[in-house]
Amino acid sequence: MRLFEGTEFDRPPRCEVCGELEAECTCPPPEKARLAPEKQTARIAVEKRKRGKQVTVVRGLSPDESNLAELLTKLKSQCGAGGTLKDGEIEIQGDQADRVREALRQIGYRIR
Ligand SMILES: [Zn+2]
Repeated sequence: MRLFEGTEFDRPPRCEVCGELEAECTCPPPEKARLAPEKQTARIAVEKRKRGKQVTVVRGLSPDESNLAELLTKLKSQCGAGGTLKDGEIEIQGDQADRVREALRQIGYRIR
């Protein structure tokens, strides 16, 4: 006889979401923990790159706790400009500081 046989500790583990046995559970893995925009402070800077091109850089957002790819897509469409994600920083082509600031503010990010 096993130690916990017949007690509540003897039940095989079940998924808390669907109630299936964990071995049979097909739930998607839980989303990575996100940090609310309200709890993050973005820093916006306009910088010069080679050949005098200007880019608007967004720093200070947590790459692990934010969906920066999604944010980049949003900013690109709001600015009507190209952009890229680099080392956890968002770069939008051109001087878009005003538009970027407004877009981030609407999402709820704090801006410094
Ligand atoms: Zn499940």
